[in-house]
Amino acid sequence: PFDVLVVGGGPAGASAAVYAARKGIRTGVVAERFGGQVMDTVGIENFISVTRTEGSKLAASLEEHVKQYDVDIMNSQRAKRLEKKDFIEIELENGAVLKSKAVVLSTGARWRNVGVPGEAEFKNKGVAYCPHCDGPLFEGKDIAVIGGGNSGIEAAIDLAGIVKHVTVLEFAPELKADSVLQERLYSLPNVTVIKNAQTKEITGTDKVDGITYVDRETGEEHHIELQGVFVQIGLVPNTDWLGDTIERTRMGEIVVDKQGATSIPGVFAAGDCTDSAYKQIIISMGSGATAALGAFDYLVRN
Ligand code: FAD
Repeated sequence: PFDVLVVGGGPAGASAAVYAARKGIRTGVVAERFGGQVMDTVGIENFISVTRTEGSKLAASLEEHVKQYDVDIMNSQRAKRLEKKDFIEIELENGAVLKSKAVVLSTGARWRNVGVPGEAEFKNKGVAYCPHCDGPLFEGKDIAVIGGGNSGIEAAIDLAGIVKHVTVLEFAPELKADSVLQERLYSLPNVTVIKNAQTKEITGTDKVDGITYVDRETGEEHHIELQGVFVQIGLVPNTDWLGDTIERTRMGEIVVDKQGATSIPGVFAAGDCTDSAYKQIIISMGSGATAALGAFDYLVRN
């Protein structure tokens, strides 16, 4: 069996694997796709001490760093079941069962897509999901934010300070964001809110040039010319496979404590799959380190 088995090979998992391996214990990483969300990212400008890098480069560096140690990397393998017996067992989609004394779950998350024509086509060409990451790319431009929940309205407020104009498109008749956020939003001069708006298409040729929506009250179709669209309709943690075995929030995020411990002794979690605040590379790496050290501490005491 492993001492620490890490499930997920994004920034959190890579960090956990390095920290565990440096304790000289038997460490493994199972990842569906090593690199995680970083593989879908073009420019990264907020990974502190690295002024600018690209997702594919950072993903390669993550793997290179893990490979400096005696870590068993099992790439292109998906975990489908976790069970605590004598050891913690992780069953893979291919039927194999891995056993470990401690486990770090770092399966990350994915942005919920609106699923309209143009969204996939113009990803990184005007369609964005992370205001902290990509906001500065739209300086002085007109953009839309799809989604009027807390994340959408926070994004709109944040972006209004950078871009020329923000249009918020909300599907429902009312914004769902907290009232303090709504008040702040409505106090800004360069924001328009459109409710009852069903996004129909993100248009463009080589990059985004507009958005089409249907007014759900009148059925009328409208088109707005703009250069960017931020989709803010939720981040979905990759935790469905855990079912009821472990405590998760209403949103499906794994509940962790300060050491990264979950509701199952010996099972730790880190990064975007947890209920930690803010989902960023630097944060997930920090929590990966925390979870690995928490797991090591657990092994020492048990
Ligand atoms: P992830 O990166 O999601 O990695 C999860 C890992 O788990 C992957 O290896 C995945 O294949 C694996 N996995 C999932 N399910 C299973 C399973 N059942 N079995 C086995 N393996 C599984 N953050 C920044 O700080 N700066 C940026 O500029 C930035 N830009 C971004 C741009 C885009 C387009 C996106 C999508 C995100 C961006 N982020 C950025 C956010 C950042 O990428 C995430 O916060 C970070 O990658 C989270 O790391 P993680 O290791 O927790 O999860």
